[in-house]
Amino acid sequence: MRLEGNDNGPRFLVLERQNGDKSMDKVSPFFIKKAMDAITLNIEISRIQNGCLLLKTVDRQQANKLLKQTRLGESMQIEITEHPTLNLTYGTIYCWDMTRLTDEAFQKELKDAHVVKVERINKFKDMKETPTGKFILTFDLGYLPNAIDVGFYRCRVELYVPNPLRCKDCLRFGHTKKHCRNRNRMCARCGELFHGNNCSFPEKCVNCGKSHSAFDRSCELYMDEKEIQRIRVTERISIKETRKRRRQQVPQAPVYTRSYAQVTRTSDNRNGSPSQSSSQPQSIEMNRHQDYHPSVSPSSNDTNSLTTELSDNSANTTTTTTTTMTMR
Ligand SMILES: [Zn+2]
Ligand SMILES: [Zn+2]
Ligand SMILES: [Zn+2]
Repeated sequence: MRLEGNDNGPRFLVLERQNGDKSMDKVSPFFIKKAMDAITLNIEISRIQNGCLLLKTVDRQQANKLLKQTRLGESMQIEITEHPTLNLTYGTIYCWDMTRLTDEAFQKELKDAHVVKVERINKFKDMKETPTGKFILTFDLGYLPNAIDVGFYRCRVELYVPNPLRCKDCLRFGHTKKHCRNRNRMCARCGELFHGNNCSFPEKCVNCGKSHSAFDRSCELYMDEKEIQRIRVTERISIKETRKRRRQQVPQAPVYTRSYAQVTRTSDNRNGSPSQSSSQPQSIEMNRHQDYHPSVSPSSNDTNSLTTELSDNSANTTTTTTTTMTMR
């Protein structure tokens, strides 16, 4: 199995204290640095939530050495584990010749290239899910390889940028339905309170207020969020840090048109007439990664984590979009 680049990149580890008050927060950075240097040199150290330390090693050998450590300094008991998400990278490949293979069988074939998960992207066309030749690969590598051997094919690996996390109810970005505080389910087409899947009112984006559906990919709020996702996966930094960087690059954030307190009208007392738009239903590329963020174990909520959470709205989001489009 040939990978472009080397498979011995940096690894991210989490150091947890096992005795005392369990937190590293009050432990002197001088002590930590000296004790770490005594084990191995050139480790990048930073503090993360829960009183843990994040360690970035130079390579796998160094990581393996650290994973065996149970003590820091003379007597501090510690445990060092692999970070659950920062060592994973996500890429896409095109390979039309894989239609006879299940995702699981395909993954087994790519195991030696450090592929831990394969997921085929399906297209939603004519109300049917049809497989495409595009796959999302999860690599257990500190970097994304440029190319990978798939049998006798050499496939180029592109960075996978997840779609922004979007709430199935209020349709805003950055949270899931489960964590929605807006409490109102909104219509993806007209932007008013949800009134069934047969909306024929003129399109008005619930987020930016312009005349497109909430799922339109040209929406400036969507594009801003997508760019934030791109920075997050390229730089491999926390979502909080990513948002900060994005605002340094583009200080003017696109704004949501209104607060939810302003949403008081229901679809019943609206005077608008149904739109006569005649655009045709389109095919939509879908996969279980729609609004997907690689999952992270519940115990790890540190700020350096690459991930937020797995949204539960993937299939429904696409279905809603399709319904809306079909109704035009
Ligand atoms: Zn919400
Ligand atoms: Zn509506
Ligand atoms: Zn919009």
